[in-house]
Amino acid sequence: MKVLNLQCAAQHGFEGWFASEAEFQRQLAEGLVSCPVCGDHTIHKLPAAPRLNLSASREVASRAPSPGAESQAVSRPGSQPGPQVDQRELQAAWLKLAREVVRQTEDVGTAFAEEARRIHHGEAPERGIRGQATVQETLALVEEGIPVLPLPMPAAAKETLQ
Ligand SMILES: [Zn+2]
Repeated sequence: MKVLNLQCAAQHGFEGWFASEAEFQRQLAEGLVSCPVCGDHTIHKLPAAPRLNLSASREVASRAPSPGAESQAVSRPGSQPGPQVDQRELQAAWLKLAREVVRQTEDVGTAFAEEARRIHHGEAPERGIRGQATVQETLALVEEGIPVLPLPMPAAAKETLQ
């Protein structure tokens, strides 16, 4: 992958991603490269990466979520209370979701990691399961490409059903 710093006739700077420099030249010759700002097809490549574009791409990189960001957000609902969000409404919605999860999954308790692995490998019937797993077990499952979602279960979600 080749990232090129490009500029149109109106001097809009932008980045173009191409398989290779030759691919860029081919697309340019066929008029496939256009300015994302004004649509101009008069594009030329800037000789070196200008500082302007470097700082822009670094900003994008720092905004990209880290691998752990998602599970952190899921495992701590309500940790970022917004002024417009009613906390009780949020908790009610969370409880509803948790009850859905309880209804649609089978509780396998501490055998969770083992069972998730068996389902993943087709050794156990495909179904939604829930249970307890240690952080290490969960990480191991994720590394093996087995989809798991850490959820703190509100006690009330179980009490009403079992
Ligand atoms: Zn332009």
